[in-house]
Amino acid sequence: MQSNRIAVVEKEKCNPVFCGDYLCIKLCPINRQGEECIHKTEDGKVAIEEVLCTGCKICSNRCPFGAIHIINLPSELENPVHQFGKNGFRLYQLPVPKQGSIVGIIGVNGIGKSTAIKILGKVIVPNLGNIDVQHNEQDVISFFKGTELQTYFTKLYSDQISISYKPQHIESIPKVFDGTVLEFLLKISEHYEKIVSIFELDALLERKLSQLSGGELQRVVIAGAMLKEANLRVIDEPTSYLDIKQRLKLASSLKQFINENNSMILVEHDLIVLDYLSDFVHIMYGKPRSFGVVSQIKSTKEGINAFLRGFLKEENVRFRKESIEFTKHAPESKQDNEESLIEWDDFEVNLKGFDLKVNAGKLPKGKVIGVLGENGIGKTTFIRILAGEIKPTKGEVSSQLKVSYKPQYLVHTSDELVSQYLSDAIAKYNLQLIRPLAIDELLNKKISELSGGELQRVYIAKCLSQDADLYLLDEPSAYLDVEQRLTVSKVLRSFMEEKGRTAIVVDHDLLFIDYLSEMLFVFTGEPSKKGLLKGLFSMEDGMNVFLKDLGITFRRDHETKRPRANKIGSQQDKMQKAEGKYYYI
Ligand code: SF4
Ligand code: SF4
Repeated sequence: MQSNRIAVVEKEKCNPVFCGDYLCIKLCPINRQGEECIHKTEDGKVAIEEVLCTGCKICSNRCPFGAIHIINLPSELENPVHQFGKNGFRLYQLPVPKQGSIVGIIGVNGIGKSTAIKILGKVIVPNLGNIDVQHNEQDVISFFKGTELQTYFTKLYSDQISISYKPQHIESIPKVFDGTVLEFLLKISEHYEKIVSIFELDALLERKLSQLSGGELQRVVIAGAMLKEANLRVIDEPTSYLDIKQRLKLASSLKQFINENNSMILVEHDLIVLDYLSDFVHIMYGKPRSFGVVSQIKSTKEGINAFLRGFLKEENVRFRKESIEFTKHAPESKQDNEESLIEWDDFEVNLKGFDLKVNAGKLPKGKVIGVLGENGIGKTTFIRILAGEIKPTKGEVSSQLKVSYKPQYLVHTSDELVSQYLSDAIAKYNLQLIRPLAIDELLNKKISELSGGELQRVYIAKCLSQDADLYLLDEPSAYLDVEQRLTVSKVLRSFMEEKGRTAIVVDHDLLFIDYLSEMLFVFTGEPSKKGLLKGLFSMEDGMNVFLKDLGITFRRDHETKRPRANKIGSQQDKMQKAEGKYYYI
C-alpha cells in the first residue's frame, strides 16, 4: 500500500452477524486470492493489513454499516503524530502554543482536537504512528526536530512548562470532588480572592460543586484553571452552559490572564467567542473518526474566514465543498401583513418566587423566531407555557395548537435503537432530516450509546418529524460543532419554509441565532428573580434591544460578512453606539 493511503475500521460500527457473516472478508479481492488482507480479530470484528490493501474500496462500499474507510491522504502528510491502535484514528501535526498569546483551535467533532491538546498537555505521550513500539519522550522531541515544537517538547518533558487544563466535560468533576466551591479553590491555591471577584463567584463559595447549575460549575472550573500557576493553559470548550452575556464576560476575563510568560490554547465552537479571544488559530480538518490534520498557524481573522470558506490557501486543501455564507443586512420582516399562528394578551406566571411577565403578542406562520436572553430569565418557562406544560398565574394562553418540543436537557438512558426511535422520521423525512443531520450513520446505535452531539441531532430530528403547528427548540446548538450548528440552521429554516410552520428557537450562540432566525423575542430582567418578554422584533430591532442591554456592538467581516464583536470603547464601538446600530451596520 502507498504510504499516503490508510484503512480505518470503526469497530463500534462493525457488526459481522448482521452484515452477512464477515461480508468484507468474502468480497476482498486480495482475500479471494488467498492472502489475509482483511481478517477477523480477537474481539470478533475485523482488521485490515494496509500493506496488502490495493485501495479498491470494495469493502468500504459494500459494508452495510459504513464501518470501513479507505482514505487517500494528501501526499504531503507523512507519519502521524499519534494513532489509536491498528486501523484506528490518526492525528497529523500539532498546534503550536505561542508565548504571550491565545491560540484557538477550530474544527468539527471527532477530528482529534482533544487528542491534540492532551498531547500538548502531557496527558498522552504520542506514539508517532507506530502502534507496536513504546516511544519515549526523547523520540517525540526528535520527531519534531527543527520546528518550534521541538523546543516546546524539550521544555515540557524537562518540567520547564507547567500546564493547567480545563477539560471539555465538566459534569464528572462533582463526582470526584464532593466539597464546596471554596474548598475546591483552596485546594489549588490560597490566593483565590482575585479569581472569585473576576469570575463573580462570591455567592457560590459555600455551595457544594454537586449543587451548582451547569453554567455555575463551568465558571468555577474555569476559575480553578486560571488560579493554578501555569505557563500553558489549555481550555477545552469553556462556553458550554453559559449564556451570551456570560460568554462575552468570560472572553474579556480570560484575556486578563495572558502575559509574556505564558500562553493559552483554546478549543471552542462559538465562533464569536473564539474570534474575540484568539490571537492566532489552527484549523483542524480531515474525516471525523478516521484522521485529523492540524493546519499551519493563521491570524484569527484569516483562519476563521478560511474555515468558513472550507479552503486553506497556503496548504491548497479544500475540506468542504461549499462555503458558509452570512448576510450583511437583517432579513426584512413583513410582520404586520402576516397571518398569525397564535395571539395572546398580557400574561404572567409565578414559579417558586420567579416572576415572568409577557406582553401581548403573536406568532406569525412559517417563520423561525429566535429567542435571546440570559440564563434563569424565563425563556424555558415561556416555551413550556406555549407547549401547555405550565399554566399562567394571571391571564391565559389558550390555543388548539399542536406543539412539538425539544427540551434543553436530553434524556440519555433508553436502550431503544435510533432506527426505532426515529422510525417515523426515517419513513417521512429521510431526505429533509435524516441525511442532512447525518443521522443515517447512527441508526444502529442505542440512544444510551450516543454522544452529546449525536443525541442532540436525534432529538432535533424527532421534534421536527412530529406533526405540529409550532416547533419549540430549547438550546439546539448545545454539544454541536460549528458545521453541525450551521447545518441545523439550514435544515430548520428550509423545513419551516416548506411546511409553512413556525419554530421558536432558544439559544446562546449569537451567530447561530443570526444564521437561522427571521424575527426575535428578547428577554430582559434579573436572573432567578424576574423576567420580561419583549417582542416580537425584526432581527435589527431585536438585536439592538438585546445588545444595548449588554453594551456590546458587532461589526461585519468584509469578506465573509460574519459578525465580529468590537472592543468595548474602541472607535468603532463608540460610533455604532452613537448611531444605535449594535449589530446590523
Ligand atoms: Fe461486516 Fe462491515 Fe464488519 Fe466487514 S466491517 S465484518 S462488512 S460489518
Ligand atoms: Fe481489500 Fe479492496 Fe478493502 Fe483493500 S480496499 S481491504 S483490497 S476490499
